[in-house]
Amino acid sequence: MRPIDKFPVGQSITFEDGNAHIIRYKYKPYQSAKDPLCINFGQYCVYCEAPITYLRDLEVEHILPKDKNLGYSHLEYDWDNFLIACSTCNGRDNKYNIVAKPDECHYPHLNNTFLSLKYCKGGVVIVNPDLKGKSKLKACKLLELIGLDKTPVTSTQQDKRWEYRMKQWNVAERYKERYENGKLNLDCLMDYIKATGCWSIWFTIFEGHDEVRRRLIEDFPGTSSVCFDANNHYSPIERNPGQEDPV
Ligand SMILES: [Zn+2]
Repeated sequence: MRPIDKFPVGQSITFEDGNAHIIRYKYKPYQSAKDPLCINFGQYCVYCEAPITYLRDLEVEHILPKDKNLGYSHLEYDWDNFLIACSTCNGRDNKYNIVAKPDECHYPHLNNTFLSLKYCKGGVVIVNPDLKGKSKLKACKLLELIGLDKTPVTSTQQDKRWEYRMKQWNVAERYKERYENGKLNLDCLMDYIKATGCWSIWFTIFEGHDEVRRRLIEDFPGTSSVCFDANNHYSPIERNPGQEDPV
């Protein structure tokens, strides 16, 4: 899962139509935060990384559920409580009944979630087996929360995320071969990746091609560059070094 940097409240941004906007503490109704969130992270689900062709399919995602009484006020409208997700990742089947606070679950705007999860052949997602202790528990919670480990057997009829990842994994393997054979240049490769998403799959498969990894970090809005070591092939590194959970 691509780690991201969230705009702080007060930051000035520019919409595609040229209008300026300053990030606010509150967005009421919360749906009005959709445009600034898309400028922040691109038009991709922050969890499954699928691209959203039409903006109406992207939903403002509440990190802590807006309709549960958790002792917090105004969860519904707070910029700090927003991410952006597709309807499947934001849907009831996966996370409606799970409350995962940031101190017990990894999140892409707080942790290096590319270290939390591992993308394997066929687009299968597992918890990074190298994690230990609290990091491992929080990564497990993230996978449970979003359900990226759902298979054709455990998914609902509507949840085709596994299928999309499988297709993307297979395409990425073929494109890597074409790229290495000089049949595909970097700009064309990036155009394809930006149109079809699944950042983590491409970042995984193009290990060893630093120029591709660098473009993935630079070209996808909001990618947290501090999570990758530019002097060591853009390998993922700890986002919170020295803390109980360094990931
Ligand atoms: Zn999603």
